Amino acid sequence: MAKKQFKAESKRLLDLMINSIYTNREIFLREIISNASDAIDKLCYLSLTDTNVGMSRADYKIDVIPNKDERTLTVRDNGIGMTAEECENNLGVIAKSGTLKFRDEMDKEQAEGEDLSIIGQFGVGFYSAFMVADEVTVITRKYGEDMGVKWTSRGADGYTVAPCEKETVGTDVIMHIKPDTDEEIFGSFLEVWKLKALIKKYSDYVRWPIRMDVERRERYETGEKDDEGNPKYDYRVVTENETVNSMIPIWQRSKSEVTDDDCIAWYKEKNRDRKDPCALVRINAEGAVSYKAMLFIPGEENENAFTGDNKGGITLYSNGVMIMEKCDKLVHDYFEFVKGVVDSPDLSLNISREMLQHDRQLRVIGQNLEKRIKGELEKLMRDDRSKYEEFFRNFGVHIKCGICDEYGRYKDFLRDLLIYCTSGDRQVTLKEYVEKMPESQKAIYYASSDSLKHAMSLPQCEDVRSRGYELIYLTSPLDEMVLECLGDQDGKPFCNVVTDDLGFETDDEKKAAEERDIENKELLDFIKDSVGDDVASVRLSRKLTSQPCCLTTEGGITLEMEKYFRRGPSEEMRKVRAKRVLELNPEHHAFAALKAAWDAGDREKARNMSLILARLAEMVSGAEIEDPAAFAALVSELF
Ligand code: ADP
Repeated sequence: MAKKQFKAESKRLLDLMINSIYTNREIFLREIISNASDAIDKLCYLSLTDTNVGMSRADYKIDVIPNKDERTLTVRDNGIGMTAEECENNLGVIAKSGTLKFRDEMDKEQAEGEDLSIIGQFGVGFYSAFMVADEVTVITRKYGEDMGVKWTSRGADGYTVAPCEKETVGTDVIMHIKPDTDEEIFGSFLEVWKLKALIKKYSDYVRWPIRMDVERRERYETGEKDDEGNPKYDYRVVTENETVNSMIPIWQRSKSEVTDDDCIAWYKEKNRDRKDPCALVRINAEGAVSYKAMLFIPGEENENAFTGDNKGGITLYSNGVMIMEKCDKLVHDYFEFVKGVVDSPDLSLNISREMLQHDRQLRVIGQNLEKRIKGELEKLMRDDRSKYEEFFRNFGVHIKCGICDEYGRYKDFLRDLLIYCTSGDRQVTLKEYVEKMPESQKAIYYASSDSLKHAMSLPQCEDVRSRGYELIYLTSPLDEMVLECLGDQDGKPFCNVVTDDLGFETDDEKKAAEERDIENKELLDFIKDSVGDDVASVRLSRKLTSQPCCLTTEGGITLEMEKYFRRGPSEEMRKVRAKRVLELNPEHHAFAALKAAWDAGDREKARNMSLILARLAEMVSGAEIEDPAAFAALVSELF
């Protein structure tokens, strides 16, 4: 029979894996067993709607069969099975979508000269069998097919596929175990005690029974009597087929049986996540709707997503039977990063995604989960602020979007989860900010730019800080929209130091400023003419202290929002511009010099100075000047 080649990239990986010095070979069993368990899940799920399956829940099992004479280890399931085509597609490539990512990580790891422990962290599924076997045969029959398929491979050199007889639906994975070497006793993978220990260690929570023939010494009455007439006993070895795993899913076990660390280890393995989650929520709810839930807030977003679809999501179970994977409607999108499981006997088994939103029980569960998730996040915020800050760096954007979503419908639920940078090291919530506000402070001041450093250096902040008030610094346009949506915090309005009236002027100061505006009207018109359409207007600033000028905006669109829209998806969006206003500091000698040139009738000089100030204002606002050479020429003119 002609040998087929593995797809190129798989071949390379397979070589790497088999030949690398790899200490954690034993995980192969976990991988093969989870495939078997998934295959049973699929058939079991199908049986909910397809009565022809003819199996009841109790019929499903996974057999682990060592055979020392043949030196084979067989993992047999009565799950959905595979067609010939599926064998080729599924067993001929390494977990397709994740291949590239895996290879990248592998290269990185090798470059760093570490061993390939990464395989253990990701799990590479079926291929891991070749770490312990020199030949793997898969005999499988798909549900609904009459014939089986036999797939055989001795590793990287290729595989054969052929039709074969198979009586029952399901899959046998037959691993011919490698000969022992000086370093490695592969034969131990044929020992019952070893296999039992591995199943306990890695596959205890698999929902289906993993069965093995286990030998046990048994005391029995020989039928003879001793001298005193008592019955005589002897021992004999009996073999019993027993279920080796406890089968109770981890989330159904109580806190006294399973520690949080066990749950975290389970999460990391299941999600192929190398990082500890930053929070764990375990719920055992009894009442109108009973359910158990185990939720994890990941340590980082989507890192190490081997399969490429390692997004958040909660998997729904009903009494241990999976009914929907990554159910995204259970909690709102603002908590979509949460991973985990919810298991409720009250859920109907064949619920559809459409029904999900309307299902009352699910809504109740969803609301409860959200409260618990929020509570857990608040606890993290109280107990370990730096960890919370890390969480917020990773997932804060979901919370922010949640606040803006549906016209602010969820803003009051979420607002306490927001944290902001102020001048201090610790990020603060809006509530904390307001609590620390001095009596005289009327508003929550904020400055927005594309980086923290830049927001802090905006000239408009000076006046606020000089009064002993803190600012919060925003670094994304989304942040501004969030504040807009929130409207206020504990009755204190938000004040954008760039665009809004800071409210510091007394009536007299206001009057004086207005008079000054009138006095300088002609000069300001001249400056506006000189600068042209780059700005919508020019005015004397009431906020600047040490800086000569700044750029501010009029109307609803700020400079930060403009930047955001420029990256927008539609042409129309990208055209949105803020209405720029050039503000000049009337107390600054730069303005005095410009006024002097104008008063002396030196229009040329006054024009150049106007242009320079306009460009400087752009620069401090964080914009790039379009023509730096022209700017340099203007400045050099002054010397
Ligand atoms: P993964 O399980 O991460 O997708 P694997 O390499 O372990 O990657 O398996 C590849 C695919 O082969 C599985 O997704 C499944 O479709 C199929 N497969 C593997 N083992 C079995 C089995 N025992 N029964 C049915 N299908 C299987």
